[in-house]
Amino acid sequence: MVESRGKKLSAKKSGLKAGRRPAAAPRPEKRFDPDYVALDLTYKCNLACSFCFMSKSRSKAAPGGELTLKELKELVDGLSQRPRKFYLAGGEPSLKKGLVELVRHIKKRGHFCRITTNAFGLDKKSAGLLMDAGLDEFTVSLHGEPAVHDKLVGARGAAARIEELFRLVDSREKRNTTISAWCTVTGLNHSRLYRAYRYFRSLNPDSIMFSHMDYITERDLAVTREVLRSQLGSKTVLNSSEGLVAGVSAAVLAGEIKKIKADSGPAVNFFPNLSAEEMKGWYAPGSGFQKRGFCLAQWKGLWIGPRGEVVPCQPLGHEMGNIRKTAPLDVFSGKPAADFRKALLRRGGFLPTCSRCGRSSYSSTYCVKAAVPARVGKR
Ligand code: SF4
Repeated sequence: MVESRGKKLSAKKSGLKAGRRPAAAPRPEKRFDPDYVALDLTYKCNLACSFCFMSKSRSKAAPGGELTLKELKELVDGLSQRPRKFYLAGGEPSLKKGLVELVRHIKKRGHFCRITTNAFGLDKKSAGLLMDAGLDEFTVSLHGEPAVHDKLVGARGAAARIEELFRLVDSREKRNTTISAWCTVTGLNHSRLYRAYRYFRSLNPDSIMFSHMDYITERDLAVTREVLRSQLGSKTVLNSSEGLVAGVSAAVLAGEIKKIKADSGPAVNFFPNLSAEEMKGWYAPGSGFQKRGFCLAQWKGLWIGPRGEVVPCQPLGHEMGNIRKTAPLDVFSGKPAADFRKALLRRGGFLPTCSRCGRSSYSSTYCVKAAVPARVGKR
């Protein structure tokens, strides 16, 4: 699935060679209709995670204020030709005023709706209202046993708030909202990941996800900057976040993951699902780690920032248009978006800074189903 540049595949087998379009990739300039909408409602956050990718590496936010509830509802209406999946995130989306009404509107239009939250600012009443509004899924950022989680997010009692949310969801008589635990691997939790997993299971989640650390190396950054500047005229300011990976031992981590896999049911996912060998490459910034396939997100997903800016994804804040000026589907099939797809394909399907992007469900070679997962049984 993934390999290091040191072990060269034939160009035919890998489809990685710059200048070569991956065989399965659709043409970049056609008109496209996204299956899902990743909507970052705000970049404000009420926690300060030590490993936060955004605070280390995010490009500058677009000018102008955040989209209002009215604008967000109009956006949903403009994308309601058919059912889609709306993934609400941030920052911390529960800080966005009008969130319940937005969820209600999304559901009224017949879409799937998921919120990714740290649950810190979600009291029982707000969480209950979100479920009453028809929310399909809470994905909760939970990064270890309580003491580890609290330390990683910089707030005492943060895990206790999450436990409350799990209990609340579980206590609903008519339960239409699922709840998942999403854990990012870090230097602090990687050697205790199996214990974290056992703790997550005790909360009775519908699924558990482990995501490898997302970061940009100096080496990959240099090439990507040049591609963005010379081929797209992009003013995006990307920074290296190589320091985030400090303290992770790939060998120790592989041992922990092996124990989890031996113990888990099918609803435990790893993003990406790396072998022990691949993990060594992922956690060694100088390894020239690279992925196969192409970034499917650019054909299937519309990513919108808090101020209406359309970007390929949060880490690559390259602006391709703004829904305040142009209809979202027109931006998605517009020239800047087509040019970005072409630039990706010229590089073999991914930019160098995509190498450690853990959004493996967006990758053509990691076809993870985005549907509501099966429930993990109690143990
Ligand atoms: S692979 Fe990741 S970083 Fe690269 S364009 Fe896709 S979502 Fe963005």
